[in-house]
Amino acid sequence: MHQSPDPLPSRVAAKKENPLQRSGIAYPRAVDALIAEFAKLPGIGRRSAERLAFHVLKADERAAMGLAQAVIDIKKTVRQCENCYHLADGPLCAVCNDAARDRSIVLVVEQPKDLLALEQTAMYKGLYHVLMGRISPLEGIGPDDLTVARLVERIKDPATNPGAAPIREVILGLNPTLEGDGTALYLGEALAPLNIKISRLARGLPSGSQLEYASKAVLADAIHHRQGL
Ligand code: ZN
Repeated sequence: MHQSPDPLPSRVAAKKENPLQRSGIAYPRAVDALIAEFAKLPGIGRRSAERLAFHVLKADERAAMGLAQAVIDIKKTVRQCENCYHLADGPLCAVCNDAARDRSIVLVVEQPKDLLALEQTAMYKGLYHVLMGRISPLEGIGPDDLTVARLVERIKDPATNPGAAPIREVILGLNPTLEGDGTALYLGEALAPLNIKISRLARGLPSGSQLEYASKAVLADAIHHRQGL
């Protein structure tokens, strides 16, 4: 493959001048298309997209087809759990399907990846509710854009839950950010009339960290939420 020091800007410039006359340094259409698709991914700039496209180009056919098939499979087989909105490959996710879990406790998180992080601790044996975001007035995201209505329904109408289990406690596991706190505040008020226990994850110093490197906000939280020995 011919490489010029700065091929893309030249190609774009050439295209602008005369779209019918492709310059000699243009990539084949399929390469351009793959670069454009990679460049749409979060955190991937034009240069990285190019590097990834060339990696695929150089990879053996089985590896490249494996990547393509994985992309097809994720769109065809993965969906949202009808109960908690976690990722699932059937109507219910693996957590909601697990009858051994305590279905009376629901831990509310922003994203499926938060759920997975909590699952890795193996400390929590209840169910989850994935909000699919957090309330963000600046971005125009309100409670109606999240899965709050289903959370309320799960509490109000136990018949819609796996095993028709009534919910007695909701743990708010939102990120300790301005928007996460705002969302937790909103949920606390919205769920207050439903006669269930509402708690939130503890916050403060992470294990293994050092006081001198902790931010003021973390230290303030740690003092405020101090525990008896
Ligand atoms: Zn689920």
